[in-house]
Amino acid sequence: MLIDVHCHANLYLELDNVLDEAKKANVEKIITVGMSFLSLERTIEIAQNHKMIYPALGIHPEETLMNKNIENQLDEINEYIIQNKEQICAIGEIGMDHYFIKDKDLYPLQKKLFLDMLELAQKLNLPINLHTKGAEQEIFEILTSFKITNINIHWYSGPEKYIKTGIDRGYFFSITPAISHSPIIKKVVDSIDLNHLLLESDGPVNYSGKIGMPSMIRNVLSEICDIKNISNEELENRIYQNTKIIFPKLWTS
Ligand SMILES: [Zn+2]
Repeated sequence: MLIDVHCHANLYLELDNVLDEAKKANVEKIITVGMSFLSLERTIEIAQNHKMIYPALGIHPEETLMNKNIENQLDEINEYIIQNKEQICAIGEIGMDHYFIKDKDLYPLQKKLFLDMLELAQKLNLPINLHTKGAEQEIFEILTSFKITNINIHWYSGPEKYIKTGIDRGYFFSITPAISHSPIIKKVVDSIDLNHLLLESDGPVNYSGKIGMPSMIRNVLSEICDIKNISNEELENRIYQNTKIIFPKLWTS
């Protein structure tokens, strides 16, 4: 059985088809991450209607660009997440982005939102699903001030030295379908030992013309097997155990 630990399931137009495909690929559970003020309620709602979907709530750094009111909505967002704390398995997608978002004026606000979400994760004792693109150094520094034990870094493609730091600190790294065409991702996977790997689709993000789907993580598994020279069955087992360690609420809620 496979688990997609990072998907934006609220963005699919035909979610039922997507979930049917996932089941056919033996994907058992899908973590759907909220990212905007508007997506929070929808994230909870689709999880209530679909047994295999587990919600995570958070604010994506892109919100600083897309939503002019985000700073004023922060209290309301905190309240909403706290209200739903029993139902969620993680805080995410949260983080900072200094790569896709070029406007440096937005960075202080990104940091403010991120710190706020980290505090919430610490208070609620929940794992985090992290976006780090271009802000790896600062994020790795910030994380040392928090007591958050379960940390997943999604779609990591930054400097290699932080992979080592992350592994030393017990972080996990979820690998996307980009592995099929990206030498960088193949190299990232090569640097991560089997006990720190997870799978994700980040759907419905586009991978060379194909819409990202949870069913694709079956192929991500095979690609990792090729790099690690290990059988599908063994890797599937390992990753399943890794997922249980970092996201225990997938089995208790
Ligand atoms: Zn994402």
